[in-house]
Amino acid sequence: MTALTVNLDLVKKYNVPGPRYTSYPPATKFANTVEWPGLLEKIAANNQTGRGLSLYFHIPFCETLCWFCGCTTVITNNHGQARPYLDHLEKEMARMAKIIDAKREVVQLHWGGGSPTFLHPDEIRRLGETIRKYFRLSADIEAGVEIDPRRLTRDHIVALREIGFNRGSLGVQDFEPKVQESIHRNQPREMTQRVVDWARELGFGSLNFDLIYGLPHQTVESFGRTLDAVLEMQPDRLAVFSYAHVPWIKPAQKILEQKVLPPPEAKLQLLKTVIERLTENGRYVYIGMDHFAQPADELVLAQRNKTLQRNFQGYSTRGNADIFAFGMSAISQILDAYWQNEKELPSYFAALDNDQPPFARGYVLSDEDKIRRETIMRVMCDLSLDYAAMSQRLGIDFPQHFANELTALAPFEADGLVRRSPHSVEVTDIGRLFIRNIAMCFDNTLAPEGERRHSRTV
Ligand code: SF4
Repeated sequence: MTALTVNLDLVKKYNVPGPRYTSYPPATKFANTVEWPGLLEKIAANNQTGRGLSLYFHIPFCETLCWFCGCTTVITNNHGQARPYLDHLEKEMARMAKIIDAKREVVQLHWGGGSPTFLHPDEIRRLGETIRKYFRLSADIEAGVEIDPRRLTRDHIVALREIGFNRGSLGVQDFEPKVQESIHRNQPREMTQRVVDWARELGFGSLNFDLIYGLPHQTVESFGRTLDAVLEMQPDRLAVFSYAHVPWIKPAQKILEQKVLPPPEAKLQLLKTVIERLTENGRYVYIGMDHFAQPADELVLAQRNKTLQRNFQGYSTRGNADIFAFGMSAISQILDAYWQNEKELPSYFAALDNDQPPFARGYVLSDEDKIRRETIMRVMCDLSLDYAAMSQRLGIDFPQHFANELTALAPFEADGLVRRSPHSVEVTDIGRLFIRNIAMCFDNTLAPEGERRHSRTV
């Protein structure tokens, strides 16, 4: 794919609220009517597949709140909170290890948050050892961790490498001091550079940066300077998110309303700058959904080979794995069901202390949900749908089953976002920017536009 040129009129037209499809149906559909005994039966059946395991651990703690944050966090500078949390993670692992077939191998591990690096190095080592006590890790595991460069020491990175992490994702957001001050996140460029140097020296195979556009005081010029700095550091992957202003869910974001948030037109200009600068001269490939990767990165290769997957951690090259998630608010995903843990620390602890699962709500997929999930996953990852291949994969007559949905793609074709033939649909290069909108055509759970509580699609 060559450099992309972004048409702002199209962006305005398609910028509506919509799911991010880290799951289908989205987590907004999970219900507390689903019961744990029913899920236990699903997990027992899932064990028969022998599929690989993807383990997720949610570490909710952060010392300070970044005012743009949309994550489920516990803000504290009391590091004494980590120990009881690790004790409860161990209780949860002990419970689940009795339920999950011990022969199943862990092919993917992810620690997210909050800030996993809130843990001291010895606590990182302890959690790593506990995971190995209960689960069997594959020799070529893909193990990724979210890293907050602030307050980080080299020993944190040493500890993460010791326990097997080979991928790091650094929260960066923006390098401009004025922007950092306005979002309550002071992180000088040198600090990020130092962590990048440590990670590379200690053998992290892949580094990702998270950036956000649409923050206070950002201009095309100022964000251009951030992109210059990022391009010099050459992360293997980049996730460049649009700031989602949802103060009705995250009240702390109201603070940002007192700052100078870029107006919608300026935000779109920022998006255009991001995509055009990163894809210029083939430096990065735009995978879709805010994600970019260097041309030789395995995400790009997996997309080309149609083996790319998408799950709660974003894009992944490890397919055929079921996600078992641990910790407050963590979401698990097996073939037939999703479930989420208690979202508050006291209720998460209380369930485990009473020898109960910390389960809060879930979703059991119907056959139709599975057909739509696979279709949405394939269009988002492969950027195409081959009708014969999809018919075979899903055991249906694909063009007949989705006759209405495929017809609904006509306006997308007229705008140059997809190409349709009697045998397939292909997303064009510029259509990648609107992949959520294209996926939404195959979603039969969407609320009317005015009632959606999702972020905007572009
Ligand atoms: S470090 Fe990350 S999770 Fe913690 S408050 Fe900041 S953005 Fe949110």
